[in-house]
Amino acid sequence: MAANKPFVRRFPRKKVCYFCANKKAEIDYKNSDLLRRFTTDRGKILPSRITGTCAEHQRKIAVEIKKARNMALLPFTTANDYKRKW
Ligand SMILES: [Zn+2]
Repeated sequence: MAANKPFVRRFPRKKVCYFCANKKAEIDYKNSDLLRRFTTDRGKILPSRITGTCAEHQRKIAVEIKKARNMALLPFTTANDYKRKW
C-alpha cells in the first residue's frame, strides 16, 4: 500500500498591493466603501498578509479606517457580535 499523500498544492499567488496597482484608488476616510474591503465583516482591519497590501499602504489604510470610524462611516465593531468573545 503506497502511502499516497494527498498532493496538497498551495498556490503561492503573488498578491499585489491594491493601491500600488491602482494608482487612482485614493485612501481616504471618505472613501468608506473602499476601506470596507480592508476590514472584516465585523469591522476589524484585515492584516496585510491577507489583503496583500504593502506596508506603506497598510499603514495608511489603518489610519484612514480609524478616521472613518470616528466619523461613523465604518463600524468599530458589529452590533450582533455580543454572543462571541475573542
Ligand atoms: Zn502599496
